[in-house]
Amino acid sequence: MARVYNFSAGPSMLPQDVLKTAASEMLDYHGCGQSVMEMSHRSGEYQAIIDSCEALLREVMGIPTNYKVLFLQGGASSQFAMIPLNLMNGSGKADFVITGQWATKAYQEAVRYGQAQVVASSKDKAFSYIPKLDPASFTPDADYFHICMNNTIYGTVYHQLPQTGNVPLVADISSCILSQPIEVSRFGMLYAGAQKNMGPAGLTVVIIREDLLGRARESTPTMFNYMTHVENGSMFNTPPTYAIYICKLVLEWLRDKIGGLEQMQKINEHKAKLLYDFLDQSKLFRGTVVPEDRSIMNIPFVTGDDALDKEFITQAKEKGFVNLKGYRLVGGMRASIYNAMPTEGVEKLVELMAQFEAAHR
Ligand SMILES: *Cc1c(COP(=O)(O)O)cnc(C)c1O
Repeated sequence: MARVYNFSAGPSMLPQDVLKTAASEMLDYHGCGQSVMEMSHRSGEYQAIIDSCEALLREVMGIPTNYKVLFLQGGASSQFAMIPLNLMNGSGKADFVITGQWATKAYQEAVRYGQAQVVASSKDKAFSYIPKLDPASFTPDADYFHICMNNTIYGTVYHQLPQTGNVPLVADISSCILSQPIEVSRFGMLYAGAQKNMGPAGLTVVIIREDLLGRARESTPTMFNYMTHVENGSMFNTPPTYAIYICKLVLEWLRDKIGGLEQMQKINEHKAKLLYDFLDQSKLFRGTVVPEDRSIMNIPFVTGDDALDKEFITQAKEKGFVNLKGYRLVGGMRASIYNAMPTEGVEKLVELMAQFEAAHR
């Protein structure tokens, strides 16, 4: 069996141990004679799976007890509307930092519901950096302040969080959740699509401070009201049952095999350094992000020549390194090296890049 090194930005690689466990439990989950896929979400067996997934997420991320954890559908993209529907109902104002495509989409959706203000943007330089933020420019009575923590497409990340005082900080952490420890108590709300670093597509995780609940506007669709899902333990309707089960296996792998998020961070930093160190000395390839804002999850790079980029992507694919093509609007290459990408995958990618460079000098 030949498995490729998959550098996809999402859906992306899952730990092999997780896939093997899922395969071994496919026909008969723990002696109950059925697959998790076939199980009623109202069964005792399934309740134990979703409860365990939540408990593991709380343990691994250190989520304080005054936060609710929700397992939803609709992707991170649905959150762009759910957040204003549920939270933009005090002053009706919210602040946004525009650091790329996802941050822009979150802002554009909020514009439909209230006064959304752009406090800073890095659009002037193709989103290759995180803008410096001046708290004096923040809206003091905003209902929330929104950031996209790790910018999947452009490869930037906040190494320091904005100081928003009493205004709840809301962050899209789709592409950095579980990659390193995060201080949940600094945020009013966190959300993530699972398909980058948690499991398969179809599951969206929301972590929300209790005092922000119960503020949804009257016209909010029942399914878009966080309270609906809080009151029903994420079982108002059928949750994405299989994706939650895989997420549970990923969390077990993270805790028991990796040793938690501090360990995961060390491994991720090491992997990223291998690639950045190569890029910084290369005469052919270069990273596109300013060094101080570089992501350890998504690493875009270019040769500066579209034809050469294309040739590299084709050669890499032939050798089993897939999905290295940059985002369709950006071009070049991007290596997404989430938790499940083995160190060996990055080492071999660097070798391949060095060979390609030697052949093209
Ligand atoms: C992938 C991604 C999204 C979109 O997620 P969907 O689940 O496809 O809606 C939003 N934000 C970030 C940061 C992402 O990486």
